[in-house]
Amino acid sequence: MGESIGIVITGASGRMGQMLIKTVIEREGVTLAGAVERPGHDWVGKDLGVLMGGTESGVIVSDDPTAAFAGAGAVIDFTAPAATISFAKAAASTGTAHIIGTTGFTEEDLAALKEAGAGNVTVRAGNMSLGVNLLVQLTKKVAEALDEDYDIEVIEAHHRRKVDAPSGTALMLGEAAAEGRGVALKDVEDRARDGITGARERGAIGFSVIRGGDIIGEHDVMFAADGERITLRHVASDRSVFARGAVKAALWAQGKDAGAYDMMDVLGL
Ligand code: NAP
Repeated sequence: MGESIGIVITGASGRMGQMLIKTVIEREGVTLAGAVERPGHDWVGKDLGVLMGGTESGVIVSDDPTAAFAGAGAVIDFTAPAATISFAKAAASTGTAHIIGTTGFTEEDLAALKEAGAGNVTVRAGNMSLGVNLLVQLTKKVAEALDEDYDIEVIEAHHRRKVDAPSGTALMLGEAAAEGRGVALKDVEDRARDGITGARERGAIGFSVIRGGDIIGEHDVMFAADGERITLRHVASDRSVFARGAVKAALWAQGKDAGAYDMMDVLGL
């Protein structure tokens, strides 16, 4: 049997944090090596097993990322942009692969993240599920095949607590559609429509956002022409798809050359 890879989870108390902890505990080949929460959080200093409603695990939640990351093979991070940038610095200092699921980065955040993670192995994806990464590839292919008679609209729905919009996945899909068309998304995106907007611009890529209830994540890419419509759709019904993808990325990252990778690299798509 091969050696087990130690994994640290940041934002341990979050929706994805808790799902990641369960996934790492259940999965062979990986061990829970630590958990991090922000200083002052009431989980800090407590046993993770007990916090998750089970027996003592020996893993104590830390507020010191550098100490928690040291010696681990990977840190899986689904938190918030500012936290992820500081975790990137800590992970680079300990040489721990950084698997980033956090979304909502601005261009400046991404530049800061790149600098903070320089010299380390990082894998970042706005969506870690196999299905969505296939959907991204399909979107690019369909956009390549169809001309601007087909209006492209990306429609996404998420739970009421999501803080960023459009979702990281919707933006990935928009980027893929733009790439397929040979244009830059920033030149054609149409993000918010309200009031007298005028007719739709030919070649625009539109985004619509729904927030409500406990929807985990739904994405449609619609290609609408006169007389016909094609819709590519992905529905996530369980957060475990993102957690399983992140653990796969953590295993894949072991021994890789320093660099910034994404799920397409991990999945070989
Ligand atoms: P959530 O339930 O709000 O969890 C976020 C966690 O991060 C919380 O525990 C929060 O702690 C913690 N956190 C924030 N700042 C921190 C800091 N400075 N230090 C330590 N912990 C910190 O959100 P979620 O639904 O799990 O989503 C988290 C992120 O993952 C979002 O960006 C979401 O869009 C993204 N996401 C990505 C994928 C994917 O496949 N890539 C899938 C699902 C979600 P507090 O409660 O103290 O703030």
